[in-house]
Amino acid sequence: MMKKLVILGGGYGGITIAQHLMDKKNIPDDVEVVLIDRMPFQGLKTEYYALASGTVSDVDVRVHYPADSRLQVVYGEVSGVDLANKRIDFSGMESLEYHTLIIALGCVDKFHDIPGAEQYSNTIQTFSATRNTYQAVNDVKPYGQITIVGGGLSGVEMAAELRESRSDLKVRIIDRGPSILSAFPEKLQSFVREWFTEHDIEMKGNAILTQIEPGIIHNGVELIYTDATIWTAGIQPSPVVQKLNVLKDGQGRVLINELHQIPTFPDVFVVGDCASLTLSPSAQAAEGQGKQVVEVIHAQWKGEIPKLGQIKLKGVLGSLGKKSGFGVMGKKTVMLGKVPRALKSGVLWMSKRHFG
Ligand SMILES: Cc1cc2nc3c(=O)[nH]c(=O)nc-3n(C[C@H](O)[C@H](O)[C@H](O)COP(=O)(O)OP(=O)(O)OC[C@H]3O[C@@H](n4cnc5c(N)ncnc54)[C@H](O)[C@@H]3O)c2cc1C
Repeated sequence: MMKKLVILGGGYGGITIAQHLMDKKNIPDDVEVVLIDRMPFQGLKTEYYALASGTVSDVDVRVHYPADSRLQVVYGEVSGVDLANKRIDFSGMESLEYHTLIIALGCVDKFHDIPGAEQYSNTIQTFSATRNTYQAVNDVKPYGQITIVGGGLSGVEMAAELRESRSDLKVRIIDRGPSILSAFPEKLQSFVREWFTEHDIEMKGNAILTQIEPGIIHNGVELIYTDATIWTAGIQPSPVVQKLNVLKDGQGRVLINELHQIPTFPDVFVVGDCASLTLSPSAQAAEGQGKQVVEVIHAQWKGEIPKLGQIKLKGVLGSLGKKSGFGVMGKKTVMLGKVPRALKSGVLWMSKRHFG
């Protein structure tokens, strides 16, 4: 009987696994590889801020799945995983049984139980939500106001790109910390703050959001008027993972062993934003982990004991519109301005051409 190796999610983690499995040409005859996603292509999530702003179009942020006769691609909305019965459930589609499973379903927004936050803000966590955000922000009347909640990497990239897309708008970014990009070195933070000041983006720190209503954000007793709100203030693993009854970390990510498996269900690997790693969630971490999962699977096929090294990250690159940006290489090397922006375009160019 054929053994199904099923990859849930064709994002950065899932597609890395599919691609590396196909590259090696040593898939045993009795193994069938199945990739499942709700979308008919990979969405380049790291570029969703540009799709939302209207500076790139839909097709610019898609990558085709690998075309290979040994890879079966199934489109469907996964609704749950039954670990005990080794079964994947879908909305409106027959369930599927697996022999080995890789869960790489990414993350969704976390609204921290703030009333109205989910209902009255737009997000950039899924392709579909980003299309709605594009519509909402580009429909804002001339000289209207847009507020971005959350001053991390994606919020900062969103604010800068929006400025480039709509010079008429008042753009504001608010954060609960004292500064935007508080996880980054101070030199980088001050460069971005200066860029925001020069480009007329208002920064509001130490915010305590208590409620969002249509057109109004409540920051304690202060009322912030806004024509559209974009939420970039927190993530949590896919709802499918939220429902799994296994051990998780404080952020709801699945605890995994050194081979990236769920310790109590070693036939299930968890990858990317769904997995509890010491690294922050990122496309690079998901890809690095994906490569290691393929090493483990190959070793298992050969009856060997897998030996994995550390996942190595190259660094973080962020954009400030199309002409400027910032980056941190290793732990401390900061790059500012045109060079990191050009590097970021290069990384995107490579990820788009990865599959020919
Ligand atoms: C604006 C923005 C900028 C970013 N910039 C960077 C950056 O510069 N560098 C970096 O390293 N990281 C960056 N990140 C983070 C990075 O995008 C994520 O960490 C990365 O996408 C995680 O990969 P993943 O494989 O876990 O999930 P994803 O890449 O999100 O893939 C998940 C896949 O699962 C599918 N899926 C989800 N739920 C279901 C379901 N129920 N049924 C069927 N299919 C489903 C989705 O369609 C998707 O294809 C950024 C994120 C954002 C939002």
